[in-house]
Amino acid sequence: MIIKNRLIPIRIRQNEALIRRIPAAHSQRSTIEGDLAKRKAGYRGEQSLDYYLSHLPAKEFTILHDLRLFNGSTYFQIDTLILSPYFALIIEVKNILGTLLFDETFNLLIRTRDEKEEGFPNPLIQAKRQKTQLKTWLIQNLACRYTNRISNWHKQPLYYLKTSADSTHVPFRVIHIQHLIEKIKFFKQSYPIEVITSRQIKKISRALVINHVPGFLNILDHYNISSKEIISGVQCPSCLIFPMRRIHGDWLCPQCGCKNKKAHLPAIQDYLLLISPAISNKQARAFLHTASEDTASRLLSVMPSSGTKKGRIYFLQ
Ligand SMILES: [Zn+2]
Repeated sequence: MIIKNRLIPIRIRQNEALIRRIPAAHSQRSTIEGDLAKRKAGYRGEQSLDYYLSHLPAKEFTILHDLRLFNGSTYFQIDTLILSPYFALIIEVKNILGTLLFDETFNLLIRTRDEKEEGFPNPLIQAKRQKTQLKTWLIQNLACRYTNRISNWHKQPLYYLKTSADSTHVPFRVIHIQHLIEKIKFFKQSYPIEVITSRQIKKISRALVINHVPGFLNILDHYNISSKEIISGVQCPSCLIFPMRRIHGDWLCPQCGCKNKKAHLPAIQDYLLLISPAISNKQARAFLHTASEDTASRLLSVMPSSGTKKGRIYFLQ
């Protein structure tokens, strides 16, 4: 059973928003596009996992995607966590094409593709750290009567790499995605005793979901782009030019004549992804190029918000 779903990562949405809103000839455009392509490949890898996980019996296995938790000093992230009465698994998905070599001397993962070598941080170290952090988090955040059981519980994290070519020298905890279900069955045979009840799993899952903190990177700082370089206004969904004009309750494109009632929504989302995770009525008027406070209030009313009257601010959906 999936308790927490996988959403399109904010970082992908941020890079897509940047591509829409920086000038065509911006010096950072190719870097932003390259990063986006890598992140999309990673996301596709994570999505392909869902197909395999759908073969697990829903009653026995609880699945949580995209967890980001605070352990008292830093945040840690887990792509996919599977809880069962017998064991728990942390799955870290890597969608890396090419021939992979685990270099244990330098703790690197080396990928060879098209005769080029490239080093990546060793995912085994990353996953080991996640295991320790999750264990500490569970001990800190849940009643102590669980802790003994939990410590027995995620002894065998499982990691796999997805590769298109043959991998060489693959460590025990790395498998190809196609063998995942087989491996989970093997774990069930190796750990046949139920160490935790379904009720306890529900309680732990709930605590994990409640304590999940979405990550938000200041993307303009990251790419060294000034907010002044961001193109404001509502984009025409048909011919993609900026800005549309607000006329009699519609957005009208001065170039192709397209009319749209909801074209401001992606613009507000872009502001929240790029400029600041919250927007006021005044900021929305400036960004949407609309003068009326009432119009802006109406347009923003569908967004999650806090505060009242002039102090009201709106957030990302
Ligand atoms: Zn247009």
